[in-house]
Amino acid sequence: MTAVESIAAALAAARDVAVVSHIIPDGDCLGSTLALTLALRQRGARVVAVNTDPVPEMFQFLPGQETIVPPEKVEEIPPLLVMVDSTDMERAGAGFSRWREKTRMVINIDHHVSNTRFGHLNLVDSRAAATAELIYAVLERIPATITPAIATCLYTALATDTGSFQYENCTATTMRLAARLMELGADLSLIREYLWERKPLASIRLLAAVLPTLTLACEGRIAWLTVSRAALEAAGARPEHAEGLVNYPRSIAGVEVGLLFRELPDGQVKVSLRSKKIVDVNAVAARFGGGGHRRAAGCTVKGDLEDVVAMIVAAAGEEL
Ligand code: 5GP
Ligand code: MN
Repeated sequence: MTAVESIAAALAAARDVAVVSHIIPDGDCLGSTLALTLALRQRGARVVAVNTDPVPEMFQFLPGQETIVPPEKVEEIPPLLVMVDSTDMERAGAGFSRWREKTRMVINIDHHVSNTRFGHLNLVDSRAAATAELIYAVLERIPATITPAIATCLYTALATDTGSFQYENCTATTMRLAARLMELGADLSLIREYLWERKPLASIRLLAAVLPTLTLACEGRIAWLTVSRAALEAAGARPEHAEGLVNYPRSIAGVEVGLLFRELPDGQVKVSLRSKKIVDVNAVAARFGGGGHRRAAGCTVKGDLEDVVAMIVAAAGEEL
């Protein structure tokens, strides 16, 4: 049996399931979580969708998002745990360390190259543009009915993880699936509005505050922005409002590596890494305990903003 077949069989028989994904949830994380949750509920299973962090405003249109709960709200840990879009169990947050022992089976569905294959069953394919492509394959195999609500969740995941179908990870398979999801009733007008035409004012103010920090190194092949706690507060912004800022340094002509450094409240710095054609940023992030994909990765590093910038820029420079 292939991984898709065995996972579909396990899910088709499941009565009591938790679907879990990573902290600071993005479109693929939430779209994949909810598509699977809705499909299994529709089949009569009892499904709890779990995330440590709240759903960002821009995703509060996703069907079922209001049913996502934090781990401490789950009284009885279900026997089957499905982790989606997560390289390892730790990505789901500290509250999950106790889950591994309490659950009977862990299913891991993900598209990150750095996935540790931590599940009893693993469907990991880094050629998939989004985890949602793998969720669709599983749903087809169960077989589950793809309702317009499920199509909306899956389409949102594809659109966000491919940067509106622009990044290198977007394949003909991705485009065919997007077209199929449109036919199945994905609500494109709602998706358009929430993803691209309802930016919180704070995120534009943050952009204005942060653009002056633009710095280039290595003959203009590395560029970065920094988001200090002060800038975040001055703009009245929350961490989620920094989403997408890393694309500005990367988009500059001649730049190969774009970086974003965000100062966290606990003496750590969250780093987002992006590359265009050459540098494997997953390898750079892995040196600092992070991971992701060849062209998009992240890590969280202890230290002052300036020190972390120096370390990461030096490491990225070595890969050029
Ligand atoms: P972002 O920079 O948007 O936070 O993340 C880019 C990619 O890297 C995403 O696919 C994300 O899942 C992954 N990523 C970000 N931060 C981390 C991290 O600390 N650890 C791991 N393993 N992956 C990360
Ligand atoms: Mn993803």
